[in-house]
Amino acid sequence: MATATLTIDLNALTKNWQALNMESAASVETAAVVKANGYGLDAARVSKALFEEGVRTFFVAAAEEGIAVRAAVGGEAAINVFSGHMAGDFEVLAKHNLIPMLNSTDQIERHFNTLPDHPFGIQLDTGMNRLGLEADDWLAVRANVLAKSPTLVMSHLACADEPIHPMNAQQLAEFRKLTDGLEIRRSLAATGGTLLGSAYHFDMTRPGVGLYGGFPFEASRAVVTVDIPVIQARQVDAGETVGYSNTWTAERPSTIATVAAGYADGLIRAMGSDLYLWDGAQKCRVVGRISMDMIGVDVTDLDTAPESLAILNQNQTVDMLADAAGTIGYEILTSLGGRYKRVYKG
Ligand SMILES: *Cc1c(COP(=O)(O)O)cnc(C)c1O
Repeated sequence: MATATLTIDLNALTKNWQALNMESAASVETAAVVKANGYGLDAARVSKALFEEGVRTFFVAAAEEGIAVRAAVGGEAAINVFSGHMAGDFEVLAKHNLIPMLNSTDQIERHFNTLPDHPFGIQLDTGMNRLGLEADDWLAVRANVLAKSPTLVMSHLACADEPIHPMNAQQLAEFRKLTDGLEIRRSLAATGGTLLGSAYHFDMTRPGVGLYGGFPFEASRAVVTVDIPVIQARQVDAGETVGYSNTWTAERPSTIATVAAGYADGLIRAMGSDLYLWDGAQKCRVVGRISMDMIGVDVTDLDTAPESLAILNQNQTVDMLADAAGTIGYEILTSLGGRYKRVYKG
C-alpha cells in the first residue's frame, strides 16, 4: 500500500484535556474547541471521546460544523458557534440545538427575530478586532440582551501564546470592565489563556490546539503520528543529485529512500529539507525538494532498509514541522488532508 498512515491517539487527546482541566479550579468548566473538523482529526470522533471523558461544552466555528458534533455527543452537551447567527442559520441552529455566540447588533436582531426563544451567547471584542461586539455597541444593547439570559459572554485573546505580552493584561482589563458584576457566565481563555493563570479562567476555559498536542501547551502529549511507506530505495554516488531542480547533491555514496507522501498530504513544500523522518528513534534527513506525492530521505546511516519512516512521532511534533515551514502547528494539523489511512486508537 502506497499511502501513509495517520494515527490519532484519542487517549492522548483525553489526557491533554484532563491536564488542561487541572490548570483551572474545579469550579471552572473546561470546554473543548472542535472547529475545522476537530483541527483536522475528525470532529465526531474527537467530540465523542471528549464527551465520554466528561466534556459538556463544545465550540465550532460555523453552525454546519455543529451537526456532526451533535450526532456524536447526543442531546446533553452544549454546542456553541463562534461565528454566531448568520443569515439562513436558523434552521440548523434550531434543528441541532446549537448556541450561536452573537457577534454584532445585526446578529442579535436576527436572532431575536427568527429564534426568539432559542439560547444564545455573546461575543465581545476586547482588542483583537476580529469578532465580537465593540464596547459601545455592547453598552447600548446590554440591558436588552441580559433580560434574555444569555448562556455565556466570551472574548478572545490575540497574544495569549506570549505570556509576557502586554496585550493579555489589556484585554483582561477590558473584558472585566465590560462584564464585571453581570449575572452571566464568562469565558476568555483558549489554550494560551488557560496557561496564563487563574485570572484568565472566569467560568469556562475553551482550549483547542492544546488538546491536539500543539503549542503553546508544551506539556501536551502527541496525538498525531504519521508513518509513510518507503516505495523504493536506491544507491547514489557522490556527486549525484536527488529530486526536482537538483537542490541536493550527495557528498558521499548514499542510500536514498523515496517515501509515499508529499505536499498534497499537507507536508508542505515550504518545509524544505531542514527536516527529518524517523526510523524509531533514529533520524534521517530529507533530501531534495518535497514533491506532490513523494519525499526523498537519506537512510545511509540505518543498518537495515526501513519499510516506513515517521514524519510525526514522539520525537517530531506538529510544531517542529511547522517551524520548518515557517508556519504554526494549527496549520499543519488542519492541512494533513484526505489521502491518509486514518487509524484511531485509545
Ligand atoms: C480557535 C479558538 C479557540 C481555541 O484556540 P486554541 O488556541 O486552539 O486553544 C478558542 N476561542 C476562539 C474564539 C477561537 O477562535
